[in-house]
Amino acid sequence: MTTQKNLLLIILLTMKKYLNNFLLLNLFLLLPQALQASNYALVIHGGAGWFSDMPDEQIKGIEEGLEDALKTGYAILEAGGSSTDAVVEAIVILEDNELFNAGKGAVYTSEFKQELDASIMHGLNNDAGAVASVTNVKNPIRLARYVMDNTEHVMFSSRGAERVAKDAGLDIVYPSYFFQKDRLEDAKRIKKENNKMGTVGVVAIDMEGNISAGTSTGGMTNKMPGRIGDSPIIGAGTWAENNICGVSATGHGEFFIRFNVANEICDLIKYQSKNVNEAAEIVIEKLRSIGADGGVIVLDSEGNVAMTFNTPAMARAYKNSKGEQLIKIYRD
Ligand code: ASP
Repeated sequence: MTTQKNLLLIILLTMKKYLNNFLLLNLFLLLPQALQASNYALVIHGGAGWFSDMPDEQIKGIEEGLEDALKTGYAILEAGGSSTDAVVEAIVILEDNELFNAGKGAVYTSEFKQELDASIMHGLNNDAGAVASVTNVKNPIRLARYVMDNTEHVMFSSRGAERVAKDAGLDIVYPSYFFQKDRLEDAKRIKKENNKMGTVGVVAIDMEGNISAGTSTGGMTNKMPGRIGDSPIIGAGTWAENNICGVSATGHGEFFIRFNVANEICDLIKYQSKNVNEAAEIVIEKLRSIGADGGVIVLDSEGNVAMTFNTPAMARAYKNSKGEQLIKIYRD
C-alpha cells in the first residue's frame, strides 16, 4: 500500500501543471480509498489435525466444502458487501456441511450430546458477539452475529443463548438434527482422548477496509459437558482489529485460551512490526513447544495471509482481489 501511495503521489505531482490545486487535493484524498477497495480478501480454515486414514472421497468433500464457502464469501466481498456478511455466510456453508466440526457436523461430548460454540468480531470498533454450549441452534454463527448487532452483551451461553436465538427468529432445530453416526462412534471409541478437530473459521477484509473474523465449532470430541474452548472466546479463538489483522484459530482450545492466541498474533503485528507469517509462526511455535496442537489463519489490512499450523494438516483456503486462490489440506 505504501508503494502504491508513493506511486500515486508521483503521478499526481506530474499531472500538477494540468490540474488546479483543489482538484489535485481531492484526487489525492480519494484515490487511496480506491486502492484500498481493490484489496478485499477472504481466508478460511476447516480445522487443524491429522486428516490421516481419511478416504479420498472425504478429502474431496472437505475441499469442495471449502470451495463452496470461499465462493459464497468472496461473492459478497466482490459485490461490495461487508466483511461480516462474508464471514457469516461462508461459515454457515461450513456449519451446514457435516464434514466439518461445526453446526451439523459437531462432535459429541463425553455424554454423547453436542454443544456448539461460535464467535464473531468486527475490527472497526472491537464489536463482538459469542455463544457457547448451544444445543438447538442450527447456525451458531448467526446467533453470535445477532448478539453482536442486537444486544448490549458480548457472550451468552446454553439456555440463555438459546432463548436469544428463539427471540431473534433464528432457525431452531431438534438436537437430533446434529445426529451423526460416525461422530457418535468416534466419541464412544476414543472415550479416553479428546482429539477430534475440524472447527471452522473465516477472516475477511472488505472494500472499505473493515476486517471481520469468525469461528464456529462443536469443540473437542469427548469434552466434558459444559466445557467451553477457545472458539467463542474473543481474543483466544477470534480477533479482528482494523488496520492490524484478523485471526481465527483452531486446535487444543485450553492452550489457545491460556495464551490468548488470536489477540497475541495481532499484538505482535501491532507492537513489534511483525508480518502475518512471523507473528503466526512465533505463537504457533510457542504452542508446539508446550505440546499444544493447532493452527491459525491470519489476514492483515493489506490482504496478506498466513495459514500456519503445527499439525500435519490444516484444511484451508483463500481468495483475494488480486486473483490469487488456494485450497489445501496437507502441507504440500
Ligand atoms: N479449538 C476448538 C476447541 O478447543 C477445537 C478445534 O479447533 O478443533 O473447542
